[in-house]
Amino acid sequence: MPDLISGNGCGVRIGVYVCHCGTNIAGTIDVHALAEFAATLPGVVLARDYKYMCSDPGQELIKKDIAEQQLTRIVVAACSPCLHEKTFRHATEEGGLNPFFFHMVNLREHDSWVHTDKVAATEKGKDLVRAAVRRVKHHKPLERRQVSINPDALIVGGGIAGIHAALTMANAGKHVYLVEREPTIGGHMAQFDKTFPTLDCAACILTPKMTAVKTHPNITLWTLSEVDKVEGYVGNYKVSVKRKPRYIREDVCVGCLECIEACVYKQAKVLDEFNMGLGTRRPIYIPFPQAVPQLVLIDPESCIEFKSGTCKKTCVEACAERQAIDFKQQERFEEIDVGTIILATGFDVFDAGRIPYYGYGIYPNVYTALELERLVNASGPTAGEVLLRDGTKPKSVGIIHCVGSRDENTNKYCSRVCCMYSLKLAHLIKEKTDAEVYNCYIDIRAPGKGFEEFYNRVSEEGTHFIRGKVADVFPTEGTNQLTMRVEDTLMSMVRQIPVDMVVLAVGLEAQPDAQDVRRRFNISCSTEGFFLERHPKLAPVSTFTDGVFLAGCCQGPKDIPDTVAQAGAAAAEALALIDAGAVELEPNTAFIEEEFCSGCKTCIPMCPYSAISFVAEKKKAAINEVLCKGCGTCVAACPSGSIVQNLFEDVEVFDEIEGVLAYA
Ligand SMILES: Cc1cc2nc3c(=O)[nH]c(=O)nc-3n(C[C@H](O)[C@H](O)[C@H](O)COP(=O)(O)OP(=O)(O)OC[C@H]3O[C@@H](n4cnc5c(N)ncnc54)[C@H](O)[C@@H]3O)c2cc1C
Repeated sequence: MPDLISGNGCGVRIGVYVCHCGTNIAGTIDVHALAEFAATLPGVVLARDYKYMCSDPGQELIKKDIAEQQLTRIVVAACSPCLHEKTFRHATEEGGLNPFFFHMVNLREHDSWVHTDKVAATEKGKDLVRAAVRRVKHHKPLERRQVSINPDALIVGGGIAGIHAALTMANAGKHVYLVEREPTIGGHMAQFDKTFPTLDCAACILTPKMTAVKTHPNITLWTLSEVDKVEGYVGNYKVSVKRKPRYIREDVCVGCLECIEACVYKQAKVLDEFNMGLGTRRPIYIPFPQAVPQLVLIDPESCIEFKSGTCKKTCVEACAERQAIDFKQQERFEEIDVGTIILATGFDVFDAGRIPYYGYGIYPNVYTALELERLVNASGPTAGEVLLRDGTKPKSVGIIHCVGSRDENTNKYCSRVCCMYSLKLAHLIKEKTDAEVYNCYIDIRAPGKGFEEFYNRVSEEGTHFIRGKVADVFPTEGTNQLTMRVEDTLMSMVRQIPVDMVVLAVGLEAQPDAQDVRRRFNISCSTEGFFLERHPKLAPVSTFTDGVFLAGCCQGPKDIPDTVAQAGAAAAEALALIDAGAVELEPNTAFIEEEFCSGCKTCIPMCPYSAISFVAEKKKAAINEVLCKGCGTCVAACPSGSIVQNLFEDVEVFDEIEGVLAYA
């Protein structure tokens, strides 16, 4: 058995393991030939191929060989390190070696899954294994560091996702800061009357949870607030929260609403955001009757006192006893320390004006689904009546599915909830008006529990279903009606359907500021703009930033049951992290060889994690290894080559490159 001396002077005995991964790898790469080749490489004392290296017997092989063959380095050629690097590091450690005396070759994603030619793929596999064998010789023993976890948590967004996550964590005894940018929590669900498929009253199931948030001793609720800055790392985040003025003293206001009645601005022309602009509100207002916190606020854009300073301030008189109104309130910042963060910032609806041929914003009786949600709601602008703009009831209503979803020109993805909420709206419109309802759909997607049954129920109620994408909506000549032109693909004919009202089932999109938010929290967005999870199947609520989790529609369109399930999962992940008490940090961080550092500061602005500072006394840069994520930017940027990164030292990288390019 050869006992080689490596380039760095250590004696190394390398074991190479080639995984078949069923046929994922073995179907495209000759794994036996690859193992035979590996066995001939300098320093390799044994090479094996095995069906599933990640299985217990596969890992046992590594441990046994380390003991019996006195292996000192391990190379596993298998799948992505994202999935199993930890598994094999653990096996290496259990075998008695430092876990970083191991290197993984991604034979699956980098080779077998992207090639079809078996001979060429096997040759590429040889190059990759040769490179790993060359670099692993230089690996040094590294130690993982532990950092403690602050048990407090931050949740951003107070829709049903944020509310559920906050209550779950608070009930488990953790202190939660819930930050919501609107004046009230509740999110989109607070705007609905009923929820599919059970037709539960949305307010009846949501408001008890909203109230529980407000009264929970473990929850600090900040509305009209947004996260301004986030610094730190898993377990130890420092967050600055911007709190906008409400112009009402929250500790004094009791929500009696007398100030609203007293406001002189009686002929209010301010469009009510909560009612989607279908009603008006006064400059001093409460978003909706069950808002939490039950506090009024002043809109400085429309308040006469803010605009001209000439108001009689009858609101102040009405509140003379409590003196809750404070026109001088200023924006302020709160600094908090938290260990974990859950993002639950939800979604925005597709802007129907982007599809002009459906006439939204052009014809008054074309509504979006969210506007309809407000019309059918007893606390909405028409007290629950479905009315046309002229105040009459519609006799016929068309609902157009997939507006801004499943469309090459807008969003290619399915928004998942529009079919079901369109069925819900069809039911509610029929119930309230007895109108003929025409649902024009591409396919009905009803895959959830009780969804198909709900579809059947709405069909049996007499709603018409027309399979076809509506081409356009235009005024019907000589009447106040609108015509929907649609190709009925089941009847193979183009139909023109006159209706009094058109409802557009708008899709769900990422929040317009999703990119800003993702930058602030150092996470990624998917191509559709929603926040990206670490792994779609195995880590659906985690992000690539440790300690930051996702809940609800900020990760992608979903209904309320899925949102609540995901929020519970995010809370459970955060709780597991907190209860572990400490977290281990990967040691693949950068460090500075001080004797070579010229103090030029080039590296400092390059670091995306603000991990580098300048030590004035020494005139040298210093890296906070806890903040460093091992991205290597500073290593590449350093003009004097004084920054080194563990596991990516020059000798390791150059030998790896030479290994890929070598012929033998
Ligand atoms: C017309 C329509 C009808 C629907 N009907 C149903 C139904 O009947 N049944 C059903 O199961 N699902 C329904 N849905 C889907 C449902 O709306 C979502 O599943 C649910 O609202 C998702 O909750 P969320 O908390 O993730 O997001 P949201 O409800 O969007 O809440 C997000 C919250 O985060 C806040 N926020 C955003 N950005 C920030 C920030 N930067 N800082 C602080 N706070 C922020 C927002 O103000 C908001 O309060 C419907 C959707 C639509 C469009």
